Amino acid sequence: MHKNKQKYDKILLKGCDFMNNGICKICGKKGKLTFEHIPPRKAFNDRRAKLFTGNELSKTISDKKRLPWDLSGLKYKQQQRGVGLYSLCASCNSLTGTLYGDEYIKFAWTIGKLLNENNMEGKKYRWN
Ligand SMILES: [Zn+2]
Repeated sequence: MHKNKQKYDKILLKGCDFMNNGICKICGKKGKLTFEHIPPRKAFNDRRAKLFTGNELSKTISDKKRLPWDLSGLKYKQQQRGVGLYSLCASCNSLTGTLYGDEYIKFAWTIGKLLNENNMEGKKYRWN
């Protein structure tokens, strides 16, 4: 039991555990953490996505035979409802969404609109 408590405390210090309890990365309070979409959900981050680590992405730079946007063959973690993590309490998550999310969403939609208008890489991005 004592050993499990130490393990549990260690996980809490890292900020997240199997019950989504942890320490909020902004206010530092212990409690239930909410899923923070990074970038915001309305900025095209509301669907299944591949999460690449920095080490994997660095291969797009270090591998001279690979084009910078070629992610084929890299290891990733599948995230079912967009990219993000349990890192903030509900209050801080809501506050960051209000303070920064709306402006980021406008920026992302502007880029999405430009991509659609210019038919970049022959793909259509959702815009509505
Ligand atoms: Zn907080």
